[in-house]
Amino acid sequence: MKKIEDYIRTIVDFPHEGIMFRDVTTLFADPRGFRMAIDLMLHPYAGIEIDKVVGLEARGFILGGAIAHQLSVGFVPIRKKGKLPGAVISEAYTLEYGEAIVEIHDDAIQPGEKILVVDDLLATGGTAAAGIKLVERLGGEIVSTSFIIDLPELGGRKKLEAMGMEVNVLCE
Ligand code: 5GP
Repeated sequence: MKKIEDYIRTIVDFPHEGIMFRDVTTLFADPRGFRMAIDLMLHPYAGIEIDKVVGLEARGFILGGAIAHQLSVGFVPIRKKGKLPGAVISEAYTLEYGEAIVEIHDDAIQPGEKILVVDDLLATGGTAAAGIKLVERLGGEIVSTSFIIDLPELGGRKKLEAMGMEVNVLCE
């Protein structure tokens, strides 16, 4: 039987020379692969209370939408600056070159709601950490974080665990 990593391809020199980009569109496009990913991501949360799934732009929307639907809970997007139409709160974080800003609608999460944060890949953890801060600023309680891929040499898991987060990943 194929494993999750068998559905993921690596694109050399994307988006810049020297980067080995892990492309999950091949996983999403395959009916067995996509279902396996969603089922495996859901597995640790059987019997765990979750009120909302928060997905990080953009591939976190695809995964988070499917997971929220399966759990029969709401989905909340965290988007790059300037994309959400309503009132937002923002969080800046540093990239290798420069800075990025992510935003969430300021009424998307109620204090005390139990939140699962989802994205496709954990690299430095900067994007996920900024998303976690947004959820916590709105009073959300993060139950766990879930990713398809972790790149351990980039330290993202350690960074999130140092913030007190549970981190679940399907492969490295
Ligand atoms: P981080 O903030 O952890 O350094 O980077 C993770 C974010 O960048 C995630 O939102 C992820 O989608 C994106 N990302 C970085 N590198 C890759 C990659 O090789 N493949 C994919 N699919 N996403 C990546």
